[in-house]
Amino acid sequence: MNVAIIGTGYVGLSTGAGLAELGHIVTCIDREFDKIQKLKAGHTTFYERGLEELFYKNKQAGRLLFTTSMKEAVSQADLVIIAVGTPPHPVTKEADLKYIHAAATELAEFLRGYTVVATKSTVPVGTGDDIEILIRKKNPQADFDVVSLPEFLREGFAVYDFFHPDRIIVGSNTQRAADVITQLYGYFSGKTKFFYVKRRSAEMIKYAANSFLAMKIHYINELANFCEKADVDIFEVAEGMGADSRIGDKFLQPGPGYGGSCFPKDTLAMAYMARQNGVELSLINAAIKGNAARKKEMAERVLAAVKGIDSPKAAVFGLAFKAGTDDCRESPAIDIIFELLEHKIDICAYDPKAMNTAFGLLGNKISLADDMYAALDGADVLLVLTEWQEFKTLDFTEAAGKMRRKVILDFRNVFSGEKARQHGFSYQGIGRK
Ligand code: NAD
Repeated sequence: MNVAIIGTGYVGLSTGAGLAELGHIVTCIDREFDKIQKLKAGHTTFYERGLEELFYKNKQAGRLLFTTSMKEAVSQADLVIIAVGTPPHPVTKEADLKYIHAAATELAEFLRGYTVVATKSTVPVGTGDDIEILIRKKNPQADFDVVSLPEFLREGFAVYDFFHPDRIIVGSNTQRAADVITQLYGYFSGKTKFFYVKRRSAEMIKYAANSFLAMKIHYINELANFCEKADVDIFEVAEGMGADSRIGDKFLQPGPGYGGSCFPKDTLAMAYMARQNGVELSLINAAIKGNAARKKEMAERVLAAVKGIDSPKAAVFGLAFKAGTDDCRESPAIDIIFELLEHKIDICAYDPKAMNTAFGLLGNKISLADDMYAALDGADVLLVLTEWQEFKTLDFTEAAGKMRRKVILDFRNVFSGEKARQHGFSYQGIGRK
């Protein structure tokens, strides 16, 4: 099948490489000229486990192409996938659909023959209807259907998730378009559950799922606060609780708050969408408010740890919003760092993959170290903000020799508290006394 993907970001490139591996001819479009030039030259534009190999292999095989020309890609396509960003509106926090509307308008005139336009971007209920109207207005003769094809990949596992989806949701109001998607994902037939639903239901499933996961994280974080006070171990609780198949053991790791490019914006968009329909989603609203407070609480723990110290210095391990990616969008690490900078704390950070993306957000406000030990030089406290495996290899004896004061605040519970204390550190994790 000939596939055009509009928007070559995390979702567009991961999906494009995956579909090319399944044998489709995929052309990825982006309006950023430099991004497309870099991809054409054989370089990926962000870090994602396993993506580089997949990208390179399929590019070499001639199945994965890149262009800035909508005409070149869309006029050849049987299927056009929209994977542009849907960031929060700066004022209302609803999903800002300006990129979606622009993509729909730009692609319309190049549709040739029957084409399915599938939206992978996370969009509010009814956006498929808007896309249909925009295309029809620009090209009244076009033969097309608009489908909602929500994406559930996890950054850090995008390639794995592409080949092992829990389910495929096909939101189509026509059988003809649903058949095209079945053909696209033919490889998964018999391996994965397909759900054929109405377009509006598919749009809603994505927000319902992300909001639920965000609430689950917020729930375990609140329980962790209780466990710390009541001398209970949150990990024993999470294990016992998660073994219940009605609950499940995923998303029960307490931490510094949820982040990333999806949960924060999707919960806000869901809450806005509900309010527009006269419905108050109290649980989602509580998670939004609680998650913002959580990051401030984490910063307060750091401030308490350096109280009374002259010119305090913090070493930060981890800037990405989670391990396995270089994405720092809405990363709790970045929010906590900004909070600490307000209190004149000098920060030196290290992240195995996200230094460049973090620099884009923080600039020279903090210093960046080449490795873990360089970050620790003269520090009064070590903060762990992303759960990279590399941090587990820390040599506590060497670390102790570098730091001015031996204090660890491990907001991701990557270290053994017992081992840290044996090396003379004051250690505080999350969810244990
Ligand atoms: P991204 O910002 O990484 O990529 C979007 C790309 O679209 C950018 O490269 C941008 O230049 C390009 N673009 C915007 N308008 C364009 C246009 N008119 N023509 C061509 N290119 C255009 O975003 P992302 O993280 O890939 O997310 C895309 C969508 O997928 C969002 O709606 C997001 O909520 C959803 N989603 C993201 C994830 C994730 O983990 N990142 C997971 C599931 C769903």
